Amino acid sequence: MSEILTLDHVTLTDRPLIVCDIDEVVLEFLTPFRNFLRSSGHDLLARSFRLHGNIVLRADGVAVEKAAVDNLLEEFFTLQDKWQTPATLAVETLESLAEDADLVFLTAMPPRHAVVRRTLLDHHRLHYPLLATEEPKGPVVKQLQDARDVPVVFIDDILRNLHSVRSHAPDCLLVNIMANAEFRAMAPEPGEGIASAEDWPHAARIIRSHFARGNDR
Ligand SMILES: [Mg+2]
Repeated sequence: MSEILTLDHVTLTDRPLIVCDIDEVVLEFLTPFRNFLRSSGHDLLARSFRLHGNIVLRADGVAVEKAAVDNLLEEFFTLQDKWQTPATLAVETLESLAEDADLVFLTAMPPRHAVVRRTLLDHHRLHYPLLATEEPKGPVVKQLQDARDVPVVFIDDILRNLHSVRSHAPDCLLVNIMANAEFRAMAPEPGEGIASAEDWPHAARIIRSHFARGNDR
């Protein structure tokens, strides 16, 4: 049975809506995850645009099995507040955008880690509502949009999530951003209809010009 996602704690106004992923977007993920791995005799090698197959034992360089990767990710998310920090200019840029828009975080992390993530976000003045679900993101964004005639923006590092939102909320502006430069250089092209942001100030310019077009309607 799929999990039930409650939106009760999300209050939206008639302002534009920004739905924003967390890992690799608002918080650094790959860099602190690599530091975490190195602290336990592992490493993350930037050989291709994926985790599995690139997490190795430092002793022999052999890639660890999927079950071990899952365990390492679980431990990392449990300890995330010891490792993860905001991506460059994410806090300041979101603070500025939130003056003119409603902001909701939508993270694909297992919901059991939401409490520690909430604490970590609050510690960095990222007080926006948080939805943690492993369900596809498109239906959630559609539910948040809820037929209101406001500009909607969705920001994520993973194309699968951007494509999911495109198919459920087709008038949503899609923005691709990724904190880690090494892995970003190996990322697939986002393709037509997805804006690619170099960094948070660039993302803000893309988003603000979308809002300005919305005001002209
Ligand atoms: Mg992400």
